[in-house]
Order: sequence, then structure tokens, then C-alpha cells
Amino acid sequence: MPALSDRTKDFTDSVIRRMTRVSLKYGAVNLSQGFPDFDPPKEILQRLAEVSREDYNQYSITWGAQNFREALAAKQSKYMGHPINPNGEVVVTCGSTEAMMVAMMSVTNPGDKVVVFSPFYENYGADAILSGADPIYVPLYPPEFNYNPDELEAAFKQKPKAIILCNPSNPCGKVFTKDEHLFIADLAKKYDTFVITDEVYEHIVYEPYEHVYMASLPGMWERTISCSSLSKTYSITGWRLGYVIASEEVIEVAKKVHDFLTVGAAAPLQEAAVVGLNFKDDYYKDLARKYQAKKDLFLKGLDDLKIPHTNPQGAYYVMLDISEFGYDSDLEFCEILAEKVGVGAVPGSSFFKEPVNHLIRLHFAKRDDTLNEALNRLSDIRKKISPLHK
Ligand code: GLN
Repeated sequence: MPALSDRTKDFTDSVIRRMTRVSLKYGAVNLSQGFPDFDPPKEILQRLAEVSREDYNQYSITWGAQNFREALAAKQSKYMGHPINPNGEVVVTCGSTEAMMVAMMSVTNPGDKVVVFSPFYENYGADAILSGADPIYVPLYPPEFNYNPDELEAAFKQKPKAIILCNPSNPCGKVFTKDEHLFIADLAKKYDTFVITDEVYEHIVYEPYEHVYMASLPGMWERTISCSSLSKTYSITGWRLGYVIASEEVIEVAKKVHDFLTVGAAAPLQEAAVVGLNFKDDYYKDLARKYQAKKDLFLKGLDDLKIPHTNPQGAYYVMLDISEFGYDSDLEFCEILAEKVGVGAVPGSSFFKEPVNHLIRLHFAKRDDTLNEALNRLSDIRKKISPLHK
């Protein structure tokens, strides 16, 4: 057999998605791959039922159905505080996963450098490899996961083509402040760099933190490529609806990349999701409140069990400190956790460039009874997993 491609040698399958399979194998409460177990808004599901009887079975326009782009542009113009032209500044993609790949392939050449904060969402490593870019990792320091401005500028001095900004951050839950955005924006202008944002948790932010859109800051529209999706906002992760919003010059190129990667996102799902894009502000306020309650429930449960953890400012992940168990491999720990305790988690090492093995990521986008069941199982963790090296 001829050799397979070199570019695929440097990464494994996604550990996040692998841990869903591990959870299924052991019947664990799956708090690994972040997706809800509650229903999407009923209006969206009702519309989907109607759509199945209407004529949405063929391709939509490759860069997105007209009414979807119009509804999306109207919503995002309001939230982002910048007028968005649905006909030239939007590409609808198969999830933010494709949006990020489109963004990377639209702005980088093989060998270009890309700044990535660590910890980072694991796709970015593979995105960089697939597009031939070399990541420069800049650490975020706990407990607030702040960057060191000097370290960030040192990365920009290496003349990166782009910086990836996941805000709110998966996995650490950081919500970058306006000042932090302005600092990054100044560096991007000074060193002539694009900012590629991944904002899939834009509506899941805990008070007093607020989401800032990089694209809306002075002078940043032209150099920001905003990627996001409907997955988390409307609890439809399986629909794979995402988008890129950027200037017309960038979108001209992004359309071509998207066209040849996937042709288009699913036409009937775009049509059904328009209902969600037209929701009023209350929907987004309720969503944030709902997640605040889930965060409170789950983190209080962890506190009661005296399991040390991070305190997310946004998104729906919490990282647990498992140092007390003395494992060198957090991957092995997560396998044992799924098997013996019955809770699925993602090893923290999948997100860090640095050799971090003492953190595991759980998410709380689940019904309260699911979260309570997970906490109930975790209450036995010290009985069921004996500490090593003690
Ligand atoms: N963003 C979610 C996570 O981090 C799901 C990722 C995925 O599998 N697309 O778990």
C-alpha cells in the first residue's frame, strides 16, 4: 500500500469525541464532549417538522440560504454592534469547526505562524497542521487564565499571520475583558495580524462578565474573522450550523474554501433554525440564566465534595484538580473515572501545550437530574479510585 499523508501523522483522533465513546462503553454519565441532553427550543423543532413536508431537500446557496443569512446578519449586527451585510460578509458553514478551518485556510500559507493561547480547544492544533501553519503557544495562567502581555507581544514579534481567540474560552472558561481585547487589537494592528475568533459560547457568560466582540472594536472589522455557531446557543450541536462573519475581501476567499470543502450546510436545518435567529433578546437572557443555575448547582456539588476546580466566567466547562490521586496520566485517570465512578470527563492534557496532567474537564450542559446523578457518583470518587504513589 502507498504511504498515507504526512500531515495526518502529527495528530490523533479527537480525545474529546473519544471520551464520548469511552463513556458509552462504561455506561458513564457523559460530561466529556460538551453537548446538552435537554431539548432545543420547541419553536425550532416545530418548524423542523413543517420543513420536512416542504421543499428544502436540495442544496441551498453554497454560502448559506438567503433568509438564514438575513436573519443571522440582523441578529449579529445587533449583538456585535457592527452592521453586517448578509450578501457579502457572511458564509454559513457546517458548524464552527468548519468555520475555523475555512478561516485558517483563507488567511494562512504553509509555514505561516499562528498564535494560540494554551489551554486551547483541541481542534486548533489539528486546524493548524491541516492548513500547514505553525502554532506559537502563549500560556494563560490560572486561576483567571490571564495572559502575560510581554509573552503575548513576544509571540507577535515572530510575525504571526493570525491569532486564534476562543472567547469565552473552552476549556478554561475565561471571558476576555475589553482591555484585554484592546491590547490584543493593538498588537494585531501593530504587527499586521488577523484575529480569528471562535465565539460559540458568546451567549453563555456569567455575571459580572460581559462578552466583547473583537470585530466591533475600532479598526478591527477589517482584520477580524468572527467564527461562531448555533450549536450551543440553541442546543442543536448535531445540526452542524456555523458561520464566518468578516469583511467582504475575506469572505470572497472564505466562500471559495467553504464551497470546495463542504458545498453547504444542510438546507432543511438552515430553514428551521431561522426561527431561532429571530428570537427576541429575552431568549438569550434566559439562556444565560439557565446556565448560571447549572453552574451554581454543579460547582456547589463539587465544593461539597471538596474537589478543587476552576470557576468559569463563561462557557459550560469546569476543570477539576485531580492532583490528590497522584496519576501521571490524566488519560488513564479519565478511563478509570468512566469505568469505576461512572462519569465521563476529558483529560486536561488534550488542551494544554504545557505538560499538564492534573486537570480533567467536565461540562454542565445537562439536565439537573443528570448533573445530580454525576455528583452522586462523584461522591464515591475517593473510595473507588485509590491514590497512586502515596
Ligand atoms: N465544543 C464541544 C467540546 O469541547 C464539542 C466539541 C465537538 O465534539 N465538536 O466538548
